[in-house]
Amino acid sequence: MKLSELGEIGFLKKIEAFLPLSDKSVLIGIGDDAAAVRVSKGRMLLATTDLLTEGIHFDLRYAPFYQLGAKALLVNISDIAAMGGIPRYALIAIAVPDNIKVAELNELYRGIKKTASSYKVSIIGGDTSASKKGLMINITLLGEMQEKFVVKRNGARAGDKIFVTGTLGDSSAGIELLKKGEMKGSFIKRHLMPAPRVKEALFIAQNRLATSMIDISDGLSTDLNHICRMSGVGAVIYEEKIPISAGLRKTRLKRLPLHYALSGGEDYELLFTVKEENVKKMYSAILKNRLSAAIIGEITERKKGILLVDSKGGQRPLLPTGFEHFKS
Ligand code: MG
Ligand code: MG
Ligand code: MG
Repeated sequence: MKLSELGEIGFLKKIEAFLPLSDKSVLIGIGDDAAAVRVSKGRMLLATTDLLTEGIHFDLRYAPFYQLGAKALLVNISDIAAMGGIPRYALIAIAVPDNIKVAELNELYRGIKKTASSYKVSIIGGDTSASKKGLMINITLLGEMQEKFVVKRNGARAGDKIFVTGTLGDSSAGIELLKKGEMKGSFIKRHLMPAPRVKEALFIAQNRLATSMIDISDGLSTDLNHICRMSGVGAVIYEEKIPISAGLRKTRLKRLPLHYALSGGEDYELLFTVKEENVKKMYSAILKNRLSAAIIGEITERKKGILLVDSKGGQRPLLPTGFEHFKS
């Protein structure tokens, strides 16, 4: 069987079944934004890793080395944030083909260093290797938090409101512009240097406002699907409520703005669900500028599926059209 027939989720399910967990200190294993293990009473260690492969995740024609290094760390910081955790320690493994110059690697590590210091992350180790083909960067990030504040993907229940921070779609519009030869602008900046919502996620988690949370790395449609699958629920999303930046609304691109917001990915905004009784608290936090977030829909019973409602009230299934590996 080919991996493309199994798909990324199918492959992950197989690994999860093959490597069952029996250690009671492991609170969250495979399948969330980060794993969580209890290191002492009430204290959790979070762990996440991301492998960035040249030609799959980045293209050296568009991605400057400094930004590439920064982004490799930023995407992991976003995963720790999505659990409600505080990013702390990173290990950096890199496989380098011989066409890469030392000066370029210096730039890559300068991007990592600057990001680490902005987010108070310590680089504590890693590994290096030659590569026959293509540059690979793998960062493992450890974080910490109190157990009582952990927010998983599986806690959404029917009736919860669905929130999203910031705006969606700019990052994937940025890819399109980079491919057209543009070098600068807000979309490209958002694509090359995402801004993970660490402060917002901590606020949400420490005030126990969310029943589930995920960072939008694969696209709203796909990441909402992850929450619904893991929580055993359905959802309804209102097209007009999806936050899209003024810039994206007025820029002429190949597709309509909604396409980038639903399928684009790499926004690194937070998608989270809030119980009805906590919605007021969320609004008051938004009014006090603690965070920028909007309700885009609500969680429903699983049997209702995941629906997208357009401005005229028409409904259609919202399929996961975001990024997936091993797709044929
Ligand atoms: Mg994630
Ligand atoms: Mg990660
Ligand atoms: Mg990931």
